[in-house]
Amino acid sequence: MGNKERAKERREKRRQEISFLRTIPYSDHQRWWSSDTIAVVTGANRGIGFEIAHQFALHGLTVILTSRETKVGEEAAKVLQQGGLNVVFHQLDVVDPFSIELFADWVKQTFGGIDILVNNAGVNFNAGSDNSVEFAEKVICTNYFGTKNMIKTMTPLMRPSASGARIVNVSSRLGRLNGRRNRIGNLSLRQQLEDDDSLSEELIDQTVTSFLEQVKDGSWTSGGWPQVFTDYSLSKLAVNTFTRLMSRVLSDRPEGQKIYINCYCPGWVKTAMTGWAGHTSPEEGADTAVWLAFLPDQFVSGKFFAERREINY
Ligand code: NDP
Repeated sequence: MGNKERAKERREKRRQEISFLRTIPYSDHQRWWSSDTIAVVTGANRGIGFEIAHQFALHGLTVILTSRETKVGEEAAKVLQQGGLNVVFHQLDVVDPFSIELFADWVKQTFGGIDILVNNAGVNFNAGSDNSVEFAEKVICTNYFGTKNMIKTMTPLMRPSASGARIVNVSSRLGRLNGRRNRIGNLSLRQQLEDDDSLSEELIDQTVTSFLEQVKDGSWTSGGWPQVFTDYSLSKLAVNTFTRLMSRVLSDRPEGQKIYINCYCPGWVKTAMTGWAGHTSPEEGADTAVWLAFLPDQFVSGKFFAERREINY
C-alpha cells in the first residue's frame, strides 16, 4: 500500500471515530453552557463558519452569526432561525476597525459580553500548484491581523465564569512552524518564533511585515518563506504563533476570569475557498472548533489541533 492510500485509510478511520464520538451526547456534568451562553462566529455566512454557528445553535447556545455582507449574513441566519435555532445576525468585517468597533459596542449593549469567540473569517487566493502573492496583503490582513484585532477587541468583553471563556482560531496545517515540506527556511527566525522566551507580538508582526515588504520589492521568492501558498501559509503561521502567545498572556488572569485560546486545522474542506475540492465536508470541518469550544473539564490552552487531537505547531 502506498503512502497516499495509507493516509486515506487513516483519514477514513478517524472520520468514523469522530462520527461515533459525535453521537455521544454531553452529560449534564460536562455541559457548562446553556441558552445564555453567547458564541460569536466570524465569516459565518457560508462554509465552515456557517457550520460552526449551526452546530453551536444545535447545542442550544445563543449564536451571533456575523458576516461582512449584511444581506448574505441575514439570509444565512434566517436559514438557521427557520430551523428554530437561536441565532442573531450582525455585520462584521474583520479588516475594518470601524466595523469591529460598532460590533463590539452592539454586543456590549445587547448581551453585556460573550463567552465564545471563533475566528473563522479567512481568505486564500491560490489553488492547486499556484503560488501567486498578488493578494498577499489582503491575505495577511484578513487572516492574521483580522484575527488579532478581533481577539484584542473582544477579550475585554469575555464574561467571567467558572468554566472560562473560549477562543478558537480556525487555522491550517500549512501554517506549521516545522512542517516537513512547507516551512520558513530561516532556522534562526523559526527558532525565535518557536521559543516562548523570544516569541512576541512584535516578532510576529515583523515577520509578516518583512514578507509583505519583500512582496512589494519583488525579492520574496528568495526570502526563505513557506513554498506552498506562501502568503496564506505565513498568515496561518502567524495565527498559530499568536495563539500560543495569547495563551501565555491570558494565563495570568485570575480564577473565574480565565480565557482559554486554541487553534485548529479543519482539514481539506469542500468549500468555496477550495473550489469545493477536498476530503471533508464543512460539517466535519466544523467539528473540532465546536469540540474545542466545549472542552468540559480539562482546561487546555495555547495548543494546535486537528480532528480532535493535539498536533505539533
Ligand atoms: P469560505 O471561503 O467558504 O469562507 C470564508 C468566510 O470568511 C466567508 O464567510 C467570507 O465572507 C469570510 N470572510 C473573508 N474575509 C472576511 C472579512 N474581512 N471579514 C469577515 N468575514 C470575511 O472558506 P472556508 O469555510 O473554507 O474557510 C473558513 C476558514 O477555514 C478560513 O479561515 C480558512 O482559512 C480555514 N481553512 C479552510 C480550509 C479548507 O480546506 N476549506 C483548510 C484550512 C483552513 P464572504 O462570503 O463575504 O467572502
